[in-house]
Amino acid sequence: MPVIKTRGVIKDYPLASGWFRALHGVDLDIRGGEYVAVMGHSGSGKSTFMNILGCLDRCNEGSYWLNSHEVGRLSGDELARLRNQTLGFVFQGFNLLPRMTLTENVALPLVYAGIAKPERFRRARELLEKVGLARHVDAFPTKISGGQQQRVAIARALVNRPRVILADEPTGNLDSRTSDDIMSIFRQLHEEGITIVLVTHESDVAEHASRQVYFRDGRILSDQATLRAEDVPC
Ligand code: ADP
Ligand code: MG
Repeated sequence: MPVIKTRGVIKDYPLASGWFRALHGVDLDIRGGEYVAVMGHSGSGKSTFMNILGCLDRCNEGSYWLNSHEVGRLSGDELARLRNQTLGFVFQGFNLLPRMTLTENVALPLVYAGIAKPERFRRARELLEKVGLARHVDAFPTKISGGQQQRVAIARALVNRPRVILADEPTGNLDSRTSDDIMSIFRQLHEEGITIVLVTHESDVAEHASRQVYFRDGRILSDQATLRAEDVPC
């Protein structure tokens, strides 16, 4: 069973004039340990689909299985638990809480998991160290750069030890050098066996992934393994 499986996923948004269909029946399987880049023009439905995968939104029709659980059949509590245990989400805009230190930001998801404060802070500091921010554990998000804020957001996404990281244009607000640093963190996570689904506009970012899925107008246009220079016959 894949870690992510969708069948016939349809998403309609209400408009003043009626309904807008943002996803037209999306079928996708992602196996544990895959690194998938989701690509496509602006407005093609990438974020809509990611929000459904992240259980931040529900589809109108179709089914979604996360780690073999059919999301649409779970109660609110069951869904919150599954999401906490399975998923980490990284956004383009970092979404850190400005009045909390980096340690407190990273530790926050563990409050909902019912873990005691010393253990929360120990795990948060360990992850901040992993993403290269050991010196800033007590800093506030406003005092660090955008690239560093995104590292904090990645650490926060990892704190529940999820199987899957979903990232929606995580390098969209970063310059290319900082973006390379962030991509090397995702590559390391992939090597550690974490499943990664990452939305990007940039083909050089997508080349880090082993599979590329293109959306167009709310449908999957293509789904193929990443071609690497060494795989192309001369
Ligand atoms: P992408 O992430 O690929 O740029 P989105 O998933 O954000 O695309 O949007 C897909 C389509 O759905 C777009 O046409 C967008 O305008 C529309 N859309 C997204 N969110 C909403 C919303 N909350 N209400 C109405 N339309 C929306
Ligand atoms: Mg988007």
